Amino acid sequence: MQFYSTNNKDLRVSFQEAVFNSLPKDKGLYMPENIPQLDPYFIKHIQQYSFQEIAFEVAKAIIGDDIPAKDLKAIIQDAINFEAPVRFLSAETAVLELFHGPSYAFKDFGARFMSRVMGYYSKQGDQLLDVLVATSGDTGGAVALGFLGVAGTRVTILYPKGKVSKVQEEQLTTNGQNIRALEVDGTFDDCQALVKEAFNDPELNAVLRLTSANSINIARLIPQTFYYFWAYAQLKSQGMDQVVFTVPSGNFGNIGAGLLAYKMGLPVRHFVAGTNVNDTVPRFLDSGSYAPKPSVQTLANAMDVGNPSNWVRIQDLFDQDVNGLKDLVSAYTFDDEQTVAGMKDLFAQYGYVACPHTAIAYLASQAYRQAHPGEYASVFLSTAHPCKFPEAIDPDVFKAVKLPKGAEDLADKPKLAEPMKVDYTEFKQYLLNHQ
Ligand SMILES: *Cc1c(COP(=O)(O)O)cnc(C)c1O
Repeated sequence: MQFYSTNNKDLRVSFQEAVFNSLPKDKGLYMPENIPQLDPYFIKHIQQYSFQEIAFEVAKAIIGDDIPAKDLKAIIQDAINFEAPVRFLSAETAVLELFHGPSYAFKDFGARFMSRVMGYYSKQGDQLLDVLVATSGDTGGAVALGFLGVAGTRVTILYPKGKVSKVQEEQLTTNGQNIRALEVDGTFDDCQALVKEAFNDPELNAVLRLTSANSINIARLIPQTFYYFWAYAQLKSQGMDQVVFTVPSGNFGNIGAGLLAYKMGLPVRHFVAGTNVNDTVPRFLDSGSYAPKPSVQTLANAMDVGNPSNWVRIQDLFDQDVNGLKDLVSAYTFDDEQTVAGMKDLFAQYGYVACPHTAIAYLASQAYRQAHPGEYASVFLSTAHPCKFPEAIDPDVFKAVKLPKGAEDLADKPKLAEPMKVDYTEFKQYLLNHQ
């Protein structure tokens, strides 16, 4: 399979190039040159397959011969080695839990798959691949733990001092090996600016083989399609085949993967996007005009995105047909007060503790059902474990949070972080002096 740029369909690159470039030079996004169709027989009998078998079939369809079947199988077995269960809260409402990976967030799917693909393409004797990443919290942990121990790679994570939660910081700073953390005395935007400047620095690029673990990398999108198929398989094994997925959305990569799965033949009745007050997409679906705004800080901070970077992919999937898109996708927006009420409601009704992002998906799924009653399963996606967001959750609810396995050990590990000022020269010297 070749991949084109959404800005220029004549520009075609191999899968390997798309992964290492992350972004085409024309600033579009890579998309597969055609949307592969899965065998209807496979979909009809999907409940007979395991999660990893399904993941392999889907990945093979998208990637084609660029990675031989036996190598792709090994990558998937190594990357997708944790569960993604559908749990029913009531007869018609279920949650798809995507936080059972090492960083307790759905970004583990993307980061683990991408790291193994990059490791696969980095042949012995190649120059070390230097992955630079700025994080406001969730991405850094997934990338750190995703690349931990992957041969041929080294990761440098920049995070804003005092602005990530305890569990998030521990996941970034307790790894050692090929993972380095820089604690920047500034904001997330400062971290991102430092990384950007490094990528644009010819002197640095002459010495180091820099790459980005950016969320727009096609190798992060592909594995996010897997769990939509797997959720459908789990529903089918319970005799259900009508499903509406609700996705808490920021950069719209997660829901974009769901829509790709749909275009590949997954039968989904409807998709619902839940957003916080960063509501560029809901306003677009209402008005037909795309008007991004600067992002606003909310409790669901992994979704504080004013100009969702994956939106062009979704428009490309629908050939810019707004009406076709609106037939399949609805969107609802919730402010912080509603988000808190949603978390309380989930706990009071079902004894379920959700992170703020997940609560927004729950609220959006309820809003959609109210407007569209019918016989279908409402499946909302849980994108992170609540233990990562203690400041955002009511203390009475947070008391009920059970720490996942391994979270307690994290606190005992020594913190390995290098302090750094918002100063590009200092950052560059660090990279050059620690090769
Ligand atoms: C990144 C993230 C999101 C948003 O996902 P997108 O793919 O950017 O829409 C939602 N919830 C959590 C917990 C996240 O970390």
